[in-house]
Amino acid sequence: MYKVYLKPGKEESLKRFHPWVFSGAIARIDGQPEEGEVVEIYTSHNEFIAKGHFQIGSIAVRVLSFLQDEAIDADFWKRKLAIALDMRQSIGIANRKDNDTYRLVHGEGDNLPGLVIDIYNRTAVMQAHSAGMHLDRMAIADALYEVMEGRIDNIYYKSETTLPFKADLYPENGFLRGGSTDNIATEYGLKFYIDWLKGQKTGFFVDQRENRALLERYASGRSVLNMFCYTGGFSVYAMRGGARMVHSVDSSAKAIDLTNKNIALNFPDDTRHTAYAEDAFKYLDHMGDRYDLIILDPPAFAKHRDALRNALQGYRRLNAKVFEKIQPGGILFTFSCSQAVNKDQFRTAVFTAAAQSGRNVRILHQLTQPADHPVNIYHPEGEYLKGLVLYVE
Ligand code: SAH
Repeated sequence: MYKVYLKPGKEESLKRFHPWVFSGAIARIDGQPEEGEVVEIYTSHNEFIAKGHFQIGSIAVRVLSFLQDEAIDADFWKRKLAIALDMRQSIGIANRKDNDTYRLVHGEGDNLPGLVIDIYNRTAVMQAHSAGMHLDRMAIADALYEVMEGRIDNIYYKSETTLPFKADLYPENGFLRGGSTDNIATEYGLKFYIDWLKGQKTGFFVDQRENRALLERYASGRSVLNMFCYTGGFSVYAMRGGARMVHSVDSSAKAIDLTNKNIALNFPDDTRHTAYAEDAFKYLDHMGDRYDLIILDPPAFAKHRDALRNALQGYRRLNAKVFEKIQPGGILFTFSCSQAVNKDQFRTAVFTAAAQSGRNVRILHQLTQPADHPVNIYHPEGEYLKGLVLYVE
């Protein structure tokens, strides 16, 4: 096995179970591991400390195990996936009659850095974010099929856009098992078409489930604007919650098609909903003051730290337009999914926008990602979704 030796003192974060080794922490490597191969990590005192997937880049090793005698083999994958499933069952999300949509594996949050698995009814969509998970995909798929024991028929692999393309891995999207075209899944009793072939992420934003359910409770009798609607998730919940009218906006025509299909699937012939393909900033400029419940769930404005300043400006401008126009007594659900923007920075951007409007604004809820997207306590970077529910007088 290849051995990676750390520089003196660079083992501290691993001792606290942080799952990454940065390339700058490495003193030398015995041999020349290929990208994605499993390597052992040693301190400068030659003590074993962890093992994980090697990769060229700023994160050089993603830790899979802190135990020297734990082999990364078929049994390892089965054990890890069984733990992940067990957790989803014990928190009551993987065994509800009205729900077959949940995240089974959330990377570092499930001690499987670089791996995401979402379950949509009878299909699991698996996504590798590291070369190592890509190389191990067949073993993982076998283990997944076994651990899910008759709950799934299909495993779709979707990593064309999530792997470092310099690594020459040539991942091809496609089924590793089964091959169904039935892509309707159920979330808390509502039906959604999941576009795992062409959609963003694994085809659906599973991470907004609890926030959508909260929105439903506020929707009764309100005029709702769902900005950045994508699949129309928030809109469908608003409809069930008894909204008076729901408008969905997204700049992508495909997203608007999908939203219309999802509304029709749940509320055929219901005339309360209309969807518009338009840029968010333009729409907010001319929308007037007809809404009293607005959702802002933009794409990650900052994917990297360098983009932080612009991202914060973006959040401020976007929220300022809403504070300017939302009805008195209106409710704003506002989100940021940028990993590089932390909770305080996001809150400051929204606070600045509120102050500009001069309106009285109260925080009703502070939202985050749901329990099936857990944060590894030793890896706080895993907390990425931030949301505020605001009451605007
Ligand atoms: N709220 C959604 C997820 C939103 S993802 C859900 O719960 O599923 C972000 C969406 O913003 C994408 O669908 C993307 O097409 C859209 N988008 C990106 N830039 C935009 C812009 N300038 N104006 C409007 N929509 C935009």
